[in-house]
Amino acid sequence: MSSKSDNRSSSSPPHVVLFPFMAKGHTIPTIHLALLFLRHGARVTFFTTPSNRPFISEHLGATAADIVDLPFPRVPGIPAGVESTDKLPSRSLLLPFLTCTPLMKPNFEGALEALPDVTFMVTDLFLGWTLDSASKLGIPRLSFGGWNVFTTVIYDELVLRGHHVLLEAKGEEVFHHPHFGSIELTVKHFEPHLVCSEFFVEQLEATSRSYGTIVNSFDELEPRFLEFWNRDCKPRAWCVGPLCLAEAPVREAVSHEGYKWMEWLDEKKETPVLYVAFGSQAEVLEEQIEEIKIGLERSGVSFLWVVGQNEKLDEGFEERVKGRGLVVREWVDQRRILGHESVKGFMSHCGWNSVTESICAKVPILAWPMGADQPLNAIIVVDEIKVGLMVETCDGSMRGFVKGEGLERMVRELMEGERGEIVRKRVEEVGELAIKAVEEGGSSWVNMSELIAQMHVRK
Ligand code: UDP
Ligand code: UDP
Repeated sequence: MSSKSDNRSSSSPPHVVLFPFMAKGHTIPTIHLALLFLRHGARVTFFTTPSNRPFISEHLGATAADIVDLPFPRVPGIPAGVESTDKLPSRSLLLPFLTCTPLMKPNFEGALEALPDVTFMVTDLFLGWTLDSASKLGIPRLSFGGWNVFTTVIYDELVLRGHHVLLEAKGEEVFHHPHFGSIELTVKHFEPHLVCSEFFVEQLEATSRSYGTIVNSFDELEPRFLEFWNRDCKPRAWCVGPLCLAEAPVREAVSHEGYKWMEWLDEKKETPVLYVAFGSQAEVLEEQIEEIKIGLERSGVSFLWVVGQNEKLDEGFEERVKGRGLVVREWVDQRRILGHESVKGFMSHCGWNSVTESICAKVPILAWPMGADQPLNAIIVVDEIKVGLMVETCDGSMRGFVKGEGLERMVRELMEGERGEIVRKRVEEVGELAIKAVEEGGSSWVNMSELIAQMHVRK
């Protein structure tokens, strides 16, 4: 189907197809990517499913992006209308959810063929099957996983090249990446059943055969990993982030007046607030919730805590911390909260979007990784770029149980302690670098321009 590239004048804008995996942590940065492509003069067509369309169209607002929705496959156990991982009734349905999307292939290809002049597509790392559709239609595919470069490097080595290592690993055994020997990894940094699954390996392989991979990072953030990757691994990684910074002009149009947490933060002006949130997926154990309550209550620190729908807090707690702590149970505008001048710390599960959003808002992190790629992100946050502190787990391991008193200590350390002061200064510097990277002429801006120019020439 090479005829697709016929009769196009080089002056027509490039046409980019975007297709994120159906999870908020993938969809949100892809929306930001759409805004960025539009700002660079590209035409954008965004693929999704009917239930995810309202969320996406709300965030794309009055931009010129087209949205195409494809029916989501019916899968036993997944209720109709649940088309996003954060809406799944149980995390045990994650693998069936991940593996059913190839059923969308005929509809995707039909819709794609009907689109005029597609220059290239950026599809989710978890939608590896789209590489085949892209090849059939002669369209270059780049993958996007929402990860950083470090995670890309580590998964490539331990999962793609030698995944038995992780499956056979014993609890305390330490792994090293051959090029980054000072970084100690154990099996607790991974979810081996997931990252070593046939599904996951297939997705990494599809990425390695793609034209490139887009990374929500910037050249100055993880230089030694980026340099290694683009020298020794493939495909080329393009750092065009932090993507959350693409959002500002759209957000200005959205009024959040009347949102109780913003008003509450306004009232706190002179008092530093700790923002506590664990992303859109985490299921925090009931025993762990109890310890968080103890830690926050004893710390004396003001806090805004976003709890998941299934996480129960007794009313007594909210009553006891009234005035000092606010518990929120709805979807919040996290980027706006982090941008509020009262917010001086973020206790976070270290989902990569949350980390980048915190850095851009110059808010230091108390890292509490819970699963997925979060332990690797925590290494970046705490040891590599040093914009946060680590929570204390009982056994000292990643993802160990956290007791109330350890939490109290680390919350105080971040908000009032010496080490907190050091990471606060550092995040201000790194946040400034992030802002510079996306400005016209900055590294991410230049990478984006170069990517678009390269794809244009290929036509
Ligand atoms: N939504 C989504 N993906 C889904 C299901 C829903 O993005 O798989 C969005 C939906 O478009 C709407 C919001 O989530 O913007 C609320 O969905 P729902 O009607 O299920 O209400 P809720 O359960 O949050 O009360
Ligand atoms: N988020 C939000 N409001 C919420 C919960 C989450 O805006 O109430 C956003 C958050 O700002 C981030 C994304 O959802 O952009 C979550 O992505 P992340 O990588 O931090 O974690 P995940 O949910 O994928 O574990």
